[in-house]
Parts: sequence; C-alpha cells; structure tokens
Amino acid sequence: MPRHDWTGDQIAQLFALPLPELMHRAMAAHRRHFDPTQVQISTLLSIKTGGCPEDCAYCPQAAQYQTGVKAEKLMDVAAVLADAAKAKAAGASRFCMGAAWREPKDKDLDAVCRMVEGVKALGLESCVTLGMLTEPQAHKLKQAGLDYYNHNLDTSPEYYSKIITTRTYQDRLDTLSAVRDAGIHVCCGGIVGMGEAASDRVGMIAALAALNPHPESVPINALVQVEGTPVAQEAPLNAIEFVRTVAVARIVMPASVVRLSAGRETMSQETQALCFLAGANSIFYGEKLLTTPNPETYADRALFARLGLTPMPAKAAEN
Ligand code: SF4
Repeated sequence: MPRHDWTGDQIAQLFALPLPELMHRAMAAHRRHFDPTQVQISTLLSIKTGGCPEDCAYCPQAAQYQTGVKAEKLMDVAAVLADAAKAKAAGASRFCMGAAWREPKDKDLDAVCRMVEGVKALGLESCVTLGMLTEPQAHKLKQAGLDYYNHNLDTSPEYYSKIITTRTYQDRLDTLSAVRDAGIHVCCGGIVGMGEAASDRVGMIAALAALNPHPESVPINALVQVEGTPVAQEAPLNAIEFVRTVAVARIVMPASVVRLSAGRETMSQETQALCFLAGANSIFYGEKLLTTPNPETYADRALFARLGLTPMPAKAAEN
C-alpha cells in the first residue's frame, strides 16, 4: 500500500543513498505496480497562450516578463480537435490542453468542456490545466468527461514564495482537493533546477507524497530556462541529481505514473534512459511543450526503439 506519512528525513535519506541502491529500490517499486518496459505517452497543446496575470518565476507566459511570447486568444474548438486527432495518429493516448489563466471564466470553461468532449469522442484520455478551479467548475469538467486535471505544487512550501507571489501554496492545495472531490484524476508534480536547495527537492517530494490519495500522475520537470524570466540565470541541475529526484518520486509514490516532462529537449539520451530506469514511465510527445521546445517525435521513436520501450496502453496508465 502506498504510504502518505513519509517524513522529510526519510525522503532525505533516500536522496542520499548510493546511486546503485537508490536505483535498485526505485526499480523494485516500479515493477511492483507497472510493466517497466511501457511508457505512457501524452501530447500537450497550448490552447490559450501568454498574457497570464500570475507571476510564476519560471514561466514565459506570465504577462509581466519580457520573453517574446505573444498573448493569444483561446483556440477554436475545431482547431483543438484537429490537433488532438493528429496526436492520436502519432501514438498519443492522452491529450493535454493548457491555458495560461489565473482561473477560467465560466464562458471559457464552456468552450473547454466542448474540447474535452471532442477529445473523448476521439478515444483519447483528456487532461486540462487551466489554473485555479472552484468546486462547481471541477464538477462541470467532470461532467464533460475530463479524466485528469494538472495543477503542480511546483516546489517545496518553503521555497514557494521565491517562485510565485500571486497565489499561495494553500490555493494550490484547495484546487487539488476540488479536483479530487469531483472524481477527476490528479496530475501534480513540480519543477527542479530553479535555484532551490536540495532540501527543497526533499520538501517538494514530501508535499506530493502527503497528498492522499497520491496524484495518479506526477510530472517531474527540469527547468527550461527562458530569457526574461526571473530564474533564467539559475545553474542547471546536475543530471544525476535529476535522476535521483525521479527515483525518489518513484519510491514514495510507487503506484503513480511519474512523468519525465519539461527539460527533455536538453537532456542526453543517456540521462533519459537513466530516468526510465529510475521509474519514469510517461513522457510528453510532440514538438512543443506549451511554448518551449520538446524532442522531435522521430527522436523519441528512435530512443524507444533503442531502449526496447513501448507505449503504455491507456488502461494500464490508470493504475
Ligand atoms: S505557470 Fe500557468 S499560472 Fe503561472 S504564469 Fe505560467 S501560465 Fe500563468
């Protein structure tokens, strides 16, 4: 049974294990719940780009940073569904739609519900990330057939105020509980390499592992440094420390799908392979992650072939 009472000390001890021991434990946890040769594939589309009033220090879509990202309107439902059909043809089992909002307006939520219905009709799982959500909004999305809602904790509670000032950690937890109460699967993870201390990576994993039940999907992102954002000059996280973060997430949330998310574009194939060994079993597939580049799909196909990995069927991801 997954545990929800991991202490910070216990998680810090996992991070400090010799790498072969940490990997062994992560692999054992992975095999208990999943076929380690299968990787779930999601495609992410930005349905409403830029102009966001929030101040997330890593985000090129925040209106207050000069990053060259142009604010756009919410896409048409038909255009979104055309992209979803392409994602399905390219092998995705889940279609994720992201909107750069503090929270959705009711009129916009209606349009998103039509997108969710259309994505489901194509036979894909649906996921959206729209910012903060009230309970009635979460119920509306559930009625439209939404499978997953993404809302990340981003970092540790202690480091959070260095990264975002326009909403609190508790706001995030409240949105997560509205989503959970509506019966929607939760996708919730964080970002590393934002100048946080090792203790903040411990704190972030501890906060995720304290969610009960654990998020079904846990994206672990490596910061993509975008010129104009406050954290653009932070030193990139060492690749082995990133692998350790994935392995610890796998051990403490053994039944969750752990997603290797942003930052893959600049990761070597060897680092990605180590992440899969450490228990990562989901990726985003497609040329772009919202507004930042992602490895070309042909490169991912070649990597999967080289590592002997295959796409996870949609059902297996709903562990
Ligand atoms: S991460 Fe989301 S909420 Fe934060 S600035 Fe970017 S688009 Fe807005």
